[in-house]
Amino acid sequence: AFRAAARLGGIGVSEILRIGAEALRLRQAGANIIILGAGEPDFDTPDPIKEAAAQAMRAGATKYTALDGMPALKAAIAAKFRRDNGLDYTPAEISVGAGAKQVIHNALMATLDPGDEVIIPTPCWVSYLDMVRIAGGVPVTLACTEANGFRPDPAALEAAITPRTRWIILNSPGNPTGAAFTAAEYRPVLDVLLRHPQVWVIADDIYEHILYDGLAFATPAAVEPELWARTLTVNGVSKAYAMTGWRIGYGGGPAALIRAMAVVQSQSTSCPSSVSQAAALAALKGPQDGLAARRDSFQARRDLVVDALNAIPGLSCLRPQGAFYVFPGCAGVIGATTPDGRTIASDRDFCSFLLHDAGVAVVPGSAFGLAPYFRISYATAIEELREALARIARAVATLR
Ligand code: PLP
Repeated sequence: AFRAAARLGGIGVSEILRIGAEALRLRQAGANIIILGAGEPDFDTPDPIKEAAAQAMRAGATKYTALDGMPALKAAIAAKFRRDNGLDYTPAEISVGAGAKQVIHNALMATLDPGDEVIIPTPCWVSYLDMVRIAGGVPVTLACTEANGFRPDPAALEAAITPRTRWIILNSPGNPTGAAFTAAEYRPVLDVLLRHPQVWVIADDIYEHILYDGLAFATPAAVEPELWARTLTVNGVSKAYAMTGWRIGYGGGPAALIRAMAVVQSQSTSCPSSVSQAAALAALKGPQDGLAARRDSFQARRDLVVDALNAIPGLSCLRPQGAFYVFPGCAGVIGATTPDGRTIASDRDFCSFLLHDAGVAVVPGSAFGLAPYFRISYATAIEELREALARIARAVATLR
């Protein structure tokens, strides 16, 4: 009989996938369901990027490349880090993988021994926890509250650090809350880290270019140069250039870490896709004006969604600074009764009610580590968002 490895113990199918599957099942059965669960931009990859990939294919760029990124792409990434972040990385300090996800996976696999701890502020992208577990580490969650703008409290961080802490993962703008750190908001957190040299930093900057209201993007290694030597700055083309399916992400960090990550990659994927690397090169070197246009479109949708949610009695929503998620609280509907007599006892119940009674699929906050909340991804056509919010308002109005 089949037997899974012990390292998979406790790692289940994600709640997001489970809800997505349930929504698709209802759709196939004829129900009209709007899915607000996807973590990807609804834009198509810009044509010049696709064209660069096609040209590369025709020119024979169809073979294995250098293990952790072809030199031209590493040079473009180094230029990007300098241009956007004021960070200096040589090619030996850059690693390219199949998405930011593989870059983070490589870093954890390359560094964690059994029992090593990784601090993860929650609510968080659920994958962090399971990626740490698969690498043999222990995720240590650090609860953040809405009152703190979903940013970690420095004293709580200090208390969570032990001699076994190897990493903290910081994600700004963040999934699922959309909260972002300015340089000043990073400062107290980074000051704590300065006192604990055993703790390295994974800065997941994947939503860098989806940042609103004219805020200046900040990243830990630039805010506190003393942390550069123990920070992996992770980014990628998925969210910025609507390239989720191409699977290219990258990280900048000290050469010894990058070399260890290359060992992991060499025995898993050998190299990122050659054609996708050509596409990512075109994305990073080409005109960057599409970034602002896509960001402005997301900001308009954020405002629509936040305003509509705050007009619904029982729900309340902070106006996030970035990414394409909102994380409204639903404490005001907990304890309510649905028209068919069910009690809404949790955010899971509320999301199930929205799915079945309103035809809107969203993800409960408990799946990200904080209840009672839910996550809406608003990377969806504005007409569909309007309809989804009208449905949520009508459904909530039926609660007693
Ligand atoms: N980091 C965060 C916080 C994310 O939300 C996601 C995707 O949902 C990723 C990383 C993955 O990015 P990539 O497509 O580059 O692997």
